[in-house]
Amino acid sequence: MSLRHSLCVAACLLAASTAPGPAAALPAAAATHVETPPASTDDEASRIEQSLQTSPKPALAAAERQLARLPVTDPARSRWLAIGAEAAYALALPATAVKYTKEALDRPGLDPEMQQRLTIALAQAEDLSGHSNESIKLMMTVIGTLEQGGFDPQYMVDALSARAAAYYSLGNFRAALADLLRAYPLTPERGPRTIKADIATSLGNVYAAIEDREHAEQFYKEAIDDSVANASWVRASIAEYSLATVYRRQGEWARSAEYFEQSLRHSKLSDDTQGVAYAQFGLAQVAEKLGEFDRAERMYLASLPVFAEAGDILPQANIARGLASIALQRKQYPLALRQIERSLALAGTIEEFDLTYRLFELRAEVEYAMGDFKAAYLSQKKSGEVKQKWLEARNNESLSEMRVRFDTERQAQQNALLTKENQLNASKLAEQRQTTRLYVVSVVALLLVLGLLVFLAYRSKQVRKRLAAQALTDELTGVANRRHVMAVLSAEVERARRYRTPLTIAMFDLDHFKQINDRFGHAAGDEVLQAFARWLHDSLRKTDCFGRIGGEEFLAVLPHTALEEARTVMERMRYGVLALSYPMLEEQLQPSVSIGLAMLSEDDASVEALVARADDAVYRAKEAGRNRVES
Ligand code: GH3
Ligand code: MG
Ligand code: MG
Repeated sequence: MSLRHSLCVAACLLAASTAPGPAAALPAAAATHVETPPASTDDEASRIEQSLQTSPKPALAAAERQLARLPVTDPARSRWLAIGAEAAYALALPATAVKYTKEALDRPGLDPEMQQRLTIALAQAEDLSGHSNESIKLMMTVIGTLEQGGFDPQYMVDALSARAAAYYSLGNFRAALADLLRAYPLTPERGPRTIKADIATSLGNVYAAIEDREHAEQFYKEAIDDSVANASWVRASIAEYSLATVYRRQGEWARSAEYFEQSLRHSKLSDDTQGVAYAQFGLAQVAEKLGEFDRAERMYLASLPVFAEAGDILPQANIARGLASIALQRKQYPLALRQIERSLALAGTIEEFDLTYRLFELRAEVEYAMGDFKAAYLSQKKSGEVKQKWLEARNNESLSEMRVRFDTERQAQQNALLTKENQLNASKLAEQRQTTRLYVVSVVALLLVLGLLVFLAYRSKQVRKRLAAQALTDELTGVANRRHVMAVLSAEVERARRYRTPLTIAMFDLDHFKQINDRFGHAAGDEVLQAFARWLHDSLRKTDCFGRIGGEEFLAVLPHTALEEARTVMERMRYGVLALSYPMLEEQLQPSVSIGLAMLSEDDASVEALVARADDAVYRAKEAGRNRVES
C-alpha cells in the first residue's frame, strides 16, 4: 500500500467517522437523559439518528444502553441495532457494526425500509473489514430492490455511496465514479445521512486517485463550500485536507499550505483532534519541502501524540522520517540516524516498502555526510533492493487491481448475459407454450369434429335403420305391418307357384272387439292387441310369416302348408286363444277369434284375390256365430 493510497483511505475513514467534537458535550446530555424516564424510545431514536453522523460516540452509547435494556422480542430492537451499527461504522468499528446488523437482519418481520437500511450498514462495515467484494454483492441486491421504487431516494443515495466506497477500496475507480455520479443528483443538500458534500468529497477522492486533477479540485471545492454552508466543519476539514494533499503532490506548496491551514482551523472548530493532527502533519511536510525546518519540526511534534495514541503507524513512521530529514539538514547526524531506525522499525511492521527504500536512501545520505562511505554504499544498495521489491509489489498490486476491475466487468457482463439468456428462455418458453396450446386446441377441435361426424353418421344410420324398420313394422305391436306381410305373401306365392308347393293363408279377426274398447277403454284394447300379437308370434312356426293388416285383423302366411293341415293347426290355435288370460280385462271377458283360411289355387288371379277369399271366409265365420275357423 502506497503512502498516497493510505492517506486516501485515512481521508475516507475520516469521511465516515466524524468529529468527536460535540461528542465531548453530548455524553453529559445522554447521562441527563437516563435520569428522566424515557417517554418513548422512538423519540430518542429519532433524536439520535439526527445527530448520528456528527456525534457517533453518544449514539453508540445510547444504542448499547437500549439494547441491554430491551428484551429480544421487542420490535424497537431492530432500530436500535441499526443505530448501533451505523454509529459503530462511523467510529470505524466494523466488527461491532457487522455484529449488530447481522442480529437485526435475522429478526423476523423486518419492514422493507429497515431491511435496506441494515443491509447498507452491513455492506459499509464489510468494506471497512476488508471484505469489499461482499459489500458490493450486498449493495447489488439492495440497489436492485430500490430500483423497483417505493423507497425514500435517500436509501438509493446511501446504497450507491456504499457501493462506490467498496469499488474504491478495490481500486475499481471507474465503477465507483459511475455510482457516485448516479447518486449525486439524488442527494439532498442537507440532512442526517449522506449529503451532497459527502458525495462531492468522494468524487474528489476518485478523481484524485485517477489523477484527474481538474475534476478533483472542482469537487473538493464544491464539498468545502457545501460543508461550510451547512456549518459542518468536520466535512469541510476533510475536503480541505484532501485538496491540500492534491496540491502537495503537485508541488504547489503555497496552495497546499493554504488548504492545510483551513483544514486545521475547521478541525479545531469541531474539536476534531485527529483532523487537527492530519492538518499539522500535512503542514509539516509542506514546511519541510519549503525548508522551513523549525515550523516543520514544530508541526510534526504537535501531531505525533495523536497518531501514537490512535496507534496509526504510518503517520508516525513518516514523522520520524521527516524529523530525520530535518536533523540531516541541521547536520545532527546521530539524531537523524536514530529517527531513521525508528521509522524503519515502524515501516517494517506494516511492510511499507515505499517508505523503507526512501529511508535507506536517506540513511545513505546521512552516512555519506558523516564520511562513512562503506555504510553509505551498503545503505544505497539496500535501498535499491527494497525499491525493486516495492516496484514488484506495486506491479502486483496494479495487476491485481486490473484483475479486480476485469473480474467486476466480467461479472457485470455475465449478469447481463444471464439476464438476456433468461429473457430469451422466457420468450422461447412462451412461444413453445403457445405452440403447444395451439397444437392441443387443434387436436381437440379435430377430435371434436371427428366425433361429431361419427356421431352424425351413426345417428343418420340409426335414423335410416329406424325408418326402414318403421316402414316394415306395426308401431303398436312391433310385428310386421300390412305392407311387409303383403310383400312376403307375394314372394311366397311366387315361390309356391314356381315349386308347386302348397301355400295357405290365415286371416284372424278378433270377435266383438268394439265391446272391449267400449267396456275397458281404448288402452286396454291396445294391450289385448299386443298380447294377441305376442301369442301369435310364439304359436306359429318360425317359417310362418304374419303381421297386423288392420285394426284387429292379422294375416299369417303358412308356406308348405295345405288347407287341411292349416285347419288342424288353426283349430288348435282357436282354442289356444280362449285359454289366454288378459289381466286388463279383469277376467270378465274372454276374447275369441274368427279365422278365415284360403289355400292358393291356380284360379287365384292375384295375391289380392287370395286375401279376398280369406276375408270371405272370416265373414262366413262371423255369420256362423264367430269363434270358429272357416275356409
Ligand atoms: P266382430 O268383428 O266380432 O264383428 O266385431 P267387432 O267389434 O270386432 O267388429 P268391427 O270390425 O266392427 O270393429 C272393430 C273395432 O276394432 C273397431 C275399432 O274401434 C277397433 N279397433 C280397430 N283398431 C284398433 C286399435 O288399434 N286399437 C283398439 N283398441 N281398437 C281398435
Ligand atoms: Mg274387423
Ligand atoms: Mg272384429
